[in-house]
Amino acid sequence: MKFHVLTLFPEIPRAFFENSIMAKAVDRGLIQYNLVNIRDFAYDTHRTCDDKPYGGVLGKRVPGMLMLPEPLSFALDSVGVKPKTERDETTTGKRRVIYCTPSGKPFTQDLARQYAEQDELVFICGRYEGIDQRIIDLYVDDEVSIGDYVLSSGEVAVTVVIDAVYRLIDGVISSESLEDESHSDGLLEYPQYTRPEIFRDLSVPEVLLSGHHEKIRKWRLRKRIEKTLLFRPDLIEKARDSAVLSEEAELLLKELENGNGSDPQN
Ligand code: SAM
Repeated sequence: MKFHVLTLFPEIPRAFFENSIMAKAVDRGLIQYNLVNIRDFAYDTHRTCDDKPYGGVLGKRVPGMLMLPEPLSFALDSVGVKPKTERDETTTGKRRVIYCTPSGKPFTQDLARQYAEQDELVFICGRYEGIDQRIIDLYVDDEVSIGDYVLSSGEVAVTVVIDAVYRLIDGVISSESLEDESHSDGLLEYPQYTRPEIFRDLSVPEVLLSGHHEKIRKWRLRKRIEKTLLFRPDLIEKARDSAVLSEEAELLLKELENGNGSDPQN
């Protein structure tokens, strides 16, 4: 997988690519990345990349600034991205051009899985009030939002999307770590504990010390359902509608909804 990031601040995503698990994945050749400084494609002496938006009325201008389309289109050209109408997948492989924006469709684990199947992802990082609509119309495949709030920088949003995607690529982390994770199958993750056994008078649940596989598995499933019911009842509804819960999970869910849960420690 290759990530291209078009940005005015390459140092922000660079820190992510050069540290921790991502750095190891890059060293092992599982991930490649290319940081493109959009300012390198500005064409005036001041290397301007933004300007006032059109649409002011009665001498009052629209607030904020917008990223200019030309430097962005040259930056896209530099990584081989053509306008959508001129593309030929047989020469470029599987590639998506993504613009992270609060007005995009919600970014989800499902979308992360779809992106992990691509050969290349090209990200445009917005700044100021965002980018000229014509860049979106001409080049962008997906407008994606990481949540219902507004950040000041596309770099942070793009890094979030890349983080969710690269860990799904074969070999980056063990496949067991991806099992039972929050959002992997409609439920949130169970609580986890490490040493010491007692921390500030709080003990690790007995069942986790029992070594009894079946009891631990059941406890974890119950905890996942309890937590999802508490924090994200919308996910339970969704899981029910799409029939992704196991028969055992459905039964436990009914028990918990009827207030018939047994001692969660055992
Ligand atoms: N004027 C834009 C609007 O109201 O939709 C907000 C622009 S925001 C201040 C600057 C940049 O941060 C955006 O172009 C986008 O790249 C990024 N950004 C901010 N919030 C985001 C979110 N929730 N999801 C994805 N990207 C976001």
